[in-house]
Amino acid sequence: MDLLDTLTAKGLRGETPTREEALALLATTDDELLDVVAAAGRVRRRWFGRRVKLNYLVNLKSGLCPEDCSYCSQRLGSKAEILKYTWLKPDQAAEAAKAGVSGGAKRVCLVASGRGPTDRDIDRVTDTVAAIREADPAVEVCACLGLLSDNQAERLKAAGVDAYNHNLNTSEGTYGDIATTHTYADRVDTVQKAHGAGLSACSGLIAGMGESDEDLVDVVFALRELGSDSVPVNFLIPFEGTPLAKEWNLTPQRCLRILAMVRFVNPDTEVRIAGGREVHLRSLQPLGLHIANSIFLGDYLTSEGQAGQADLDMIRDAGFEVEGMGESTLPRHRADVAADAAQAPAAGGCGTAPAAGGCGTGGGCGPCGGHAHGHAHGDAATEAGHPDAGHDAPETAADEARTDLVRVRRRGAGTELAPNA
Ligand code: SF4
Repeated sequence: MDLLDTLTAKGLRGETPTREEALALLATTDDELLDVVAAAGRVRRRWFGRRVKLNYLVNLKSGLCPEDCSYCSQRLGSKAEILKYTWLKPDQAAEAAKAGVSGGAKRVCLVASGRGPTDRDIDRVTDTVAAIREADPAVEVCACLGLLSDNQAERLKAAGVDAYNHNLNTSEGTYGDIATTHTYADRVDTVQKAHGAGLSACSGLIAGMGESDEDLVDVVFALRELGSDSVPVNFLIPFEGTPLAKEWNLTPQRCLRILAMVRFVNPDTEVRIAGGREVHLRSLQPLGLHIANSIFLGDYLTSEGQAGQADLDMIRDAGFEVEGMGESTLPRHRADVAADAAQAPAAGGCGTAPAAGGCGTGGGCGPCGGHAHGHAHGDAATEAGHPDAGHDAPETAADEARTDLVRVRRRGAGTELAPNA
């Protein structure tokens, strides 16, 4: 197939495809699915071998957020019956992190709900990082605290934080449909602040909010231009009690095509399967490992994942290996750039202006959803599953509502029960 040959050749050279090629990939049919996975798998193995990076989420502060991100169970007015608690103490957070590291995670992601941290919150995170490092000096720490004010990224960097997560979530054109209390430009600004301070930028998207293929391609190209070192791909978990509760637009096949598109556009970047992996990929999760090189171990912020041991078994059974603490995730040429940025932070941001104009937070401060561009959600299976009317209809019908697979997190951080790791 010419398209896959072209995408593979470019990916093996570390080159980005054209928008048209990315759109054409999303329009491939289920008959071509294994060829798509195999092609993306060649690019994945070129840059990341058979390694799988494990990341572990610690929700430092859950629920009660004043922001209105439509996809989020922690949003203003959410009726989702999630855990709600204020800041964990440093020793509590370190205890939770320890469970993930013991399970094989090399990165701990410290997440707090809210618009953004106060300077006192930065102090709390500083103390928490110290407590985590005391137990595991080599562990990578990523913070996800929302929109950053001036000098907060520098303070996090000085505290020993390695990376900052803030997702763009969706295209600039649709951002106003999913959140009104902040803008896409606000999100871009925070990613640039983090990058400018020498923090590794982690920024991704949420698929399944009713967006078009063009929206997906827009946000993925914007992430590439923004210089994100890690791209979490969230699949919307339509939580009951949120505005997007009825948005069941994804199929496992569609999720694999989206992951493959993200891989081809970001051939040498960490691509992480984030929230919604179990809910939407289901029994096809192992195929996702052939495309992405990173996942979360165990539970998510407000929902439960499959057992941590099941994650480890899946990796081993699929012929992959857990990436070790001392191994570099990024290929040498990308790792060198990241190291240079960390040692000599730029004065004015990440250097590359994003094409579109907004960012969002990822794994921690959540994937988002939103009614994009007035698509008629759910009234036509092919439209919901594949809203790009300019391409042949995909062979997969829109997903059924698998509410049976959505489990609110009731264990780990903020509870008396042991974490899942
Ligand atoms: S995604 Fe983050 S900022 Fe938005 S509502 Fe959820 S916790 Fe608040």
